[in-house]
Amino acid sequence: MTTDTSALQRAEQVMGAAGVDALLLGPGADLRYLTGYLALPLERLTLLVARADGDHHLVVPTLERPRAEAAELPDGLRLHDVGETDDPYAVVARCLDGASARLGAGDQLWSMFLLGLQRVLPDASWSRASAVMRELRMRKTPDEVDALRRAGQAIDRVHAQLPGLLKAGRTEAEVGRDIADAILAEGHSEVDFVIVGSGPNGASPHHETSDRMLAEGDAIVIDIGGTLDAYHSDCTRNYVLGDPPEGYAPAHAALEVAQDAACDAVRPGVTAASVDAAARQVLTEAGYGEFFVHRTGHGIGLDGHEEPYIVAGNELVLKPGMAFSIEPGVYVPGRYGMRIEDIVVVTEDGCERLNHGDRAMTAA
Ligand code: ZN
Ligand code: ZN
Ligand code: ZN
Repeated sequence: MTTDTSALQRAEQVMGAAGVDALLLGPGADLRYLTGYLALPLERLTLLVARADGDHHLVVPTLERPRAEAAELPDGLRLHDVGETDDPYAVVARCLDGASARLGAGDQLWSMFLLGLQRVLPDASWSRASAVMRELRMRKTPDEVDALRRAGQAIDRVHAQLPGLLKAGRTEAEVGRDIADAILAEGHSEVDFVIVGSGPNGASPHHETSDRMLAEGDAIVIDIGGTLDAYHSDCTRNYVLGDPPEGYAPAHAALEVAQDAACDAVRPGVTAASVDAAARQVLTEAGYGEFFVHRTGHGIGLDGHEEPYIVAGNELVLKPGMAFSIEPGVYVPGRYGMRIEDIVVVTEDGCERLNHGDRAMTAA
């Protein structure tokens, strides 16, 4: 990932163009992107003060100083620690001396911190830091693409084990625990989520697991992801135990065409909305439009869901290096659901898929 001064330097350029004097970023992916520091989300204030003039500061609680130092912070980033009885907001105000007119607050900075900052900076005007950070984070560097590629390969290896884990008589939760173990065994440092949606549970896109027992004739949607070297994997495939339910196979065939159509539509210069439309048109023409109840995809990187969102109305123009999911689905309430999801990266003339497992429905 980007841990040298270049990320901060690029942030300075974007801040200058956007008319932002400084970004105030709490623990999370923005702070990590600019500094390499994985800060803990604590009730004590941790804040990166990234200034357009290049005078950058990181304010941490004193007891977090060893972790911040161990992160090998970029050169030129000044570290300040704040004791238990000191006022961290006064420290931030001093770090902002002369640069506190137009501030960008991290989108996920907790309101308790933002209100504390507004108390000591009454004259500042505020905007969302994402206006700057999205310009940096949406287009992945080659190192970031490589991290996403390795995460994709790891989750592909987990999916390859699924036919051996899905058995009639096992519960979704039992299978889910085995999947979580496999996500770690294949190289992820964390399990982000495990969705085992069997039978009617598959019709709820964010169902996780339950005590429902798998049975012959079930269709099962498996959507899994983890974190590997700070970057996320996210991949969905569909499995059947025995003969699929009535109507399932033709719907899945249409879904495969829709997912391919969306991937084929990805290239520099087209809009995010047009990629969503490519998948949606196939499913609508096949008669499944009403069952495709969510957007086609989301960006992925240091966050599991980030910009760009592949959704109707998003006229954002795709550029090389953008990474996102292509995951159309069909959800028939009370019966079954299905979704095919790959991560793709926009290349100079199309896209590269980062998941390569067979997308056909798989007999378990
Ligand atoms: Zn400072
Ligand atoms: Zn997913
Ligand atoms: Zn996803």
